[in-house]
Amino acid sequence: MAYDPMVHPGPRLPAVGAEQTAVRIYEVAPRDGLQNEAQVVTTDDKVELIERLVRSGLTDIEVTSFVRAAWIPQLADAAEVLARLPRREGVRFWALVPNVRGLERAVESEVRCVATVMSASETHNKKNLNRTRRESLAGLREVIATAKAEDMRVRAYLSTVFGCPYEGEVPVAESVGLCVDLLEAGADELALGDTTGMGNPAQVFAIIEALRGAGVPLDRIGLHMHDTKGTALANVLAGWQAGVRTFDGSVAGVGGCPYAPGASGNAASDDLVHLFTAMGVQTGVDIDALAGAGVFLADRLGRSLPGRYHRFHLGAAPASPAAEGGPSRARHTA
Ligand code: MG
Repeated sequence: MAYDPMVHPGPRLPAVGAEQTAVRIYEVAPRDGLQNEAQVVTTDDKVELIERLVRSGLTDIEVTSFVRAAWIPQLADAAEVLARLPRREGVRFWALVPNVRGLERAVESEVRCVATVMSASETHNKKNLNRTRRESLAGLREVIATAKAEDMRVRAYLSTVFGCPYEGEVPVAESVGLCVDLLEAGADELALGDTTGMGNPAQVFAIIEALRGAGVPLDRIGLHMHDTKGTALANVLAGWQAGVRTFDGSVAGVGGCPYAPGASGNAASDDLVHLFTAMGVQTGVDIDALAGAGVFLADRLGRSLPGRYHRFHLGAAPASPAAEGGPSRARHTA
């Protein structure tokens, strides 16, 4: 997408002391994170992870997906996870529902918040969901209408808004049109996905501005950024500057990029909480408790996870010789 800085200069950061508004961190590790991990985490460990995430202060956690078990064996225990989670005032557990059958299972599990998914680009939609966008939208209209009739809250993910791994650039007008369609279908909120980390801050400004121009309220927009090439935090900051207040994150950055094995995927929620807290923006999340949940998960997966704050937290833990006052190497820092 052509970007003209004279047309989209972007708002500046507010001055220190200026009114700053709280953000909502929407945690996706138990669903989006774990479905991209090769190893299957036990139901016991998922429940423990989610309880730790709740204790950290997170209020929105996507805990599983009602997708066919043969497709995503990592999340085959969706109903059991939900049955074992104690419901708490002020905490919303979300489940992804790809279709009407998934929604029926979600209703049976008494989950009150569901998320749907489709792509902004035709090729990604066909490869990811085996349907055209038109077919997806028709199916989602039924899913969303049924969920709203059940008095559920509905989030609609739109993938590849910031670029498609097959088509490249995705016209902003097509994303905006689909966002408007999904809201008209009854979705309460949107989550714009940077599926393979192709987005940049200038583009974030331009897309948010286009959505505003189409009458989409900022408080119905969330950003689901990926750190595949290191731009997630910059894109989140741009989104915040543009007025968005909901950001998706995965603790410790768990969940790789399905299109680039070994590359980072989701923005790390601990990185987001640290970023906003450092700026004086309220998240309601205790960074130490959240980072502790990430350490627990890395231990259960038996692999190191990519989140920056997660790695800092590990290095700052008492186990490190430097933190215990042991011998330390000379540091040539800059
Ligand atoms: Mg993701």
